[in-house]
Amino acid sequence: MSKYSHILEPLDLGFTTLKNRVMMGSMHTGLEDRPWHFTELAEYFAERARGGVGLLVTGGFAPNRRGDLLPFGSKMMSSWQVPFHKKVTSAVHENGAKILLQILHAGRYGYTPLNVAPSAIKAPINPFKPKELTSKEIYKTVDQYARAARLAQKAGYDGVEVMGSEGYFITQMINKRTNQRTDEWGGSYENRIRFPLEVIRKMRAEVGQEFIIMFRLSMLDLVEEASDMEEVLTLAKELENAGVTLINTGIGWHEARVPTIVTSVPRAAFVDVTAKVKAAVNVPVVASNRINMPDTAEDILASGKADMVSMARPLLADPFWVKKVEEDRADEINTCIACNQACLDHTFENKRASCLVNPRACHETQLIYRRVAQPKKVAVVGAGPAGLACATVAAERGHNVTLFEGRGEIGGQFNYASKIPGKEEFKETIRYFNAMIKKHGIDLKLNHKVTVDELKQAGFDDVVVATGVEPRVPSIPGVDSDKVLTYQEVLEKELQLGKNVAVMGAGGIGFDISEYLTHEGESTTLNKDAWMKEWGVDPSNETRGGLVKPEIHGSPRKVVMMQRKQSRQGKGLNKTTGWVHRAMMKMKGVEQISGVSYDKIDEQGLHITITKGEESSQRVIEADNIVLCTGQVSVNELYETLNADESKSFGLHLVGGAEYAGELDAKRAIKLASELAASL
Ligand code: FAD
Ligand code: NAP
Ligand code: SF4
Repeated sequence: MSKYSHILEPLDLGFTTLKNRVMMGSMHTGLEDRPWHFTELAEYFAERARGGVGLLVTGGFAPNRRGDLLPFGSKMMSSWQVPFHKKVTSAVHENGAKILLQILHAGRYGYTPLNVAPSAIKAPINPFKPKELTSKEIYKTVDQYARAARLAQKAGYDGVEVMGSEGYFITQMINKRTNQRTDEWGGSYENRIRFPLEVIRKMRAEVGQEFIIMFRLSMLDLVEEASDMEEVLTLAKELENAGVTLINTGIGWHEARVPTIVTSVPRAAFVDVTAKVKAAVNVPVVASNRINMPDTAEDILASGKADMVSMARPLLADPFWVKKVEEDRADEINTCIACNQACLDHTFENKRASCLVNPRACHETQLIYRRVAQPKKVAVVGAGPAGLACATVAAERGHNVTLFEGRGEIGGQFNYASKIPGKEEFKETIRYFNAMIKKHGIDLKLNHKVTVDELKQAGFDDVVVATGVEPRVPSIPGVDSDKVLTYQEVLEKELQLGKNVAVMGAGGIGFDISEYLTHEGESTTLNKDAWMKEWGVDPSNETRGGLVKPEIHGSPRKVVMMQRKQSRQGKGLNKTTGWVHRAMMKMKGVEQISGVSYDKIDEQGLHITITKGEESSQRVIEADNIVLCTGQVSVNELYETLNADESKSFGLHLVGGAEYAGELDAKRAIKLASELAASL
């Protein structure tokens, strides 16, 4: 029997059976908005269906124009749209899975001046104030939800998911925070939940009994003036009576100031809330948020906390997640590290979604790893993210690959990233690449700084140089003092520094190092209870919205973080995760100084000049240690020597940080290296 028998068990819904307990949750990829992208959308879903997922859910489609997430966003409101969707449903059915269309009315989150809401209250995360709907318009909206479900049925979907969480229109109807109406849609809780119940009843009447209707229920709002657990359970039972087939978990509104899916959120952090709903209803309930590996999923199902698990980003990262579980190859799963860098960040920047660890995601018809007819002998130098991606894709295609790494382990700078509290997931990427090295028979040579002669004599057809980056050491008087360390020295040796530390540089690594220095003991990401306390979450949801006063653990040292730019620190951090890092710095009392010029380092500490507008002042930061997080430079001597050597007989390529260190991140390194490997 499989170690993961609960994951692989079919789920009988009465009129239909799902082949296992894994659902790919809804994600907007950017392919939904234009009909001419539906062939690519179909292939994206087909790959996940081939990968064994039981149930897929599309990105959100608005039931009417006023429900748009973005101007001209995806909608399901006319029969001309049906044939495009049929491409998606046929592709999924041909590959043995089932698929639901998500119906999402954005309400006041619609990034358009035409947005509407129960009351004319602007969302804190949207500049556009909504228009208040009339009662008649709300009745019409109910009909439009039902129309979207009917069209979905015509298009061959197995059902729909009604988006009733994350702060979108339905959540706005349910909660006093956003619904201050005095008609039949507002006031009492009974009136406020009338809308979702009318939607489900009307929909069920339209589509009949043999069509899945899943409701994504906000079980923990994480904002003030929102529902408590008693209300959530009341709504769950009413939804069941109204005719839903499944209830899915929604956690937190988009405007909540508690992270719900980023990498520092513990795995399955919110599953106990789902368990309460499951205990109150008879329909199957789906758990969601930060479930990315089979052990976590199996635990949830085996302990009876949910009937199914929803994973969205993890199936972007690895479409074959279920197949690998079925075939007892869990160590080959390319794990979603919850970085948001290529998925949600792209969506918020209006770009097509993809995945940092799998650049093929949403580009299935463009980035193809074809088997080669004539294998080449390929050398890859450097086993950081770029070298690893290049070596493993080239070997997967059938090339004979030798991978040289100067250190005793693979992973490059990712080894340092994984030592930051809250970034433990980054170890999974290294584990995945180790598994791929073994699987594809790559000849890995650790502790091996390959020489030019060696490369020339071995008869390689192609040599890829991926020697990466090293920390930049700026030329400041006194920078060679013992108290000055690079971020790499601190993380490599896991040094415990003095009580006063100055961090030079406030980019991604400056923030990460400051988090490392202000943490003590076990990372709260590995301790769910401690994490809940730190962020002020009441998982029992007895207090409205599930919010309580945070219990912050003080920092073991005083940290001052500096940058030369006069702008606010952390402005360049990623869109959907930067606020979490900025909030953490505040919680830990990190002093942040912008507009700094570094004058010198001496016995006293770091001497700086601070410029604010026209004014300048001098200050000495009395630091026991100074950590350099001042960017990075390419390591590319090997490439330069090889490039200058005219007697070489192999193709020479440069990729990753070795090619260009500025604005380098792992997303760029892995994408460019995979593309290079696909072309060899
Ligand atoms: P590297 O990671 O530098 O790898 C190069 C490899 O080549 C090394 O293993 C090195 O030992 C080896 N090498 C060098 N010379 C030779 C030689 N002559 N012979 C053999 N081997 C050699 N990026 C993100 O996208 N998101 C994040 O959240 C993130 N967080 C980070 C946090 C920290 C603390 C750090 C330090 C980095 C973080 N990064 C993050 C950046 C990311 O790790 C780098 O962009 C990425 O590692 C660059 O990949 P690379 O393969 O080009 O270079
Ligand atoms: P970075 O984001 O470019 O930051 C470099 C910092 O050093 C900046 O604060 C810069 O600000 C300062 N600096 C640059 N040159 C300097 C000089 N000569 N003297 C003094 N200060 C200097 O790069 P990073 O922090 O090294 O990160 C490397 C890469 O990893 C980035 O691409 C980053 O996106 C990625 N990363 C991402 C995350 C994440 O959470 N997504 C986390 C860590 C790293 P001033 O010039 O204003 O001083
Ligand atoms: Fe997961 Fe990051 Fe890939 Fe998004 S980009 S799916 S968060 S690994």
